[in-house]
Amino acid sequence: MPLPSRPTTATPSRASDPDASLLVWMNGELIPPEQANVNVFDHGVLYGDGVFEGIRVYNGRVFKLATHLRRLYASAAAIRLEIPCEVQELAQAVRETVAANERENGYIRLCVTRGVGALGINPFTCEKSTVFIIFAGISMYPAEVYEKGLSLIIAKTLRTDPRALSPQIKSMNYLNNIMAKIEAIDAGVLEAVMLNGQGNVAECTADNLFIVAQSNNQPTVITPPLSAGGLEGVTRNTVMQLARDAGIGVEETDIDVEKLYHADEVFMTGTGAEVVPVTRVDDRSIGDGAPGPVTVQLAKAFRELVAFNAPED
Ligand code: PMP
Repeated sequence: MPLPSRPTTATPSRASDPDASLLVWMNGELIPPEQANVNVFDHGVLYGDGVFEGIRVYNGRVFKLATHLRRLYASAAAIRLEIPCEVQELAQAVRETVAANERENGYIRLCVTRGVGALGINPFTCEKSTVFIIFAGISMYPAEVYEKGLSLIIAKTLRTDPRALSPQIKSMNYLNNIMAKIEAIDAGVLEAVMLNGQGNVAECTADNLFIVAQSNNQPTVITPPLSAGGLEGVTRNTVMQLARDAGIGVEETDIDVEKLYHADEVFMTGTGAEVVPVTRVDDRSIGDGAPGPVTVQLAKAFRELVAFNAPED
């Protein structure tokens, strides 16, 4: 019996979608997106076996490119995946992709999959990894979220235990996070907080989480230590430095649910999301229900940093 035909979603092209990539870099070549296809025998597709980075471009400058590439190579080394080029060559490929796409601002998705191999999870049947770089537009959340704040739920899905898989490996398998994201969507919100096995905050599904609370009678920016099970976010580290530069105290300490509910302020950070105020967690309003002053100050400092000379290292 013939299978019922389903309407297909066309590969994004500039003609139909101004936010789409014009050219994709794949294994050394710049090609149109409709030709940028991954083989069905690639273990990236079969098993989520691969690593990636999401990187922002601001005014033609690739924000923290060197830091992202360091993390990419560290993720690859952790899963014994060989990236088939030197870091400088990959940096050059990123710049070529940006130049080829005629946009000054956007989001880079740089992926390295295990490559084509035999069926079965043995990664060593794959001879050569597949590398591709997409440069497209991104808008993670509606603009009003940045003005009014975002609501979160605390997901029932726990973040993967670091003893099972290090959260520092930015792998192409996001199912743990996707399950929590589905909970958020089912609850009518856009993001979820993920707890670890000890009941403390690890991170959100694709962002790091911060609270602002009083410590030694000073408003202090607090985020979970990496041991809690979150990714060492590039934006997390940048915002921590901006806080220190502004004379605001910064602490990495565990955040349990009570501490989160009763925080003066909550915000999230991520490459796609940037700095997002959070004004509700579950059925609790945070602070007075509007983005707090420290969040607003740090979001502004971040916008200024990236707008004027976004550092590339
Ligand atoms: N946690 C997870 C699970 C992520 O996927 C990301 C990246 N979107 C982050 C945190 C934030 O990291 P970065 O600031 O480096 O984008």
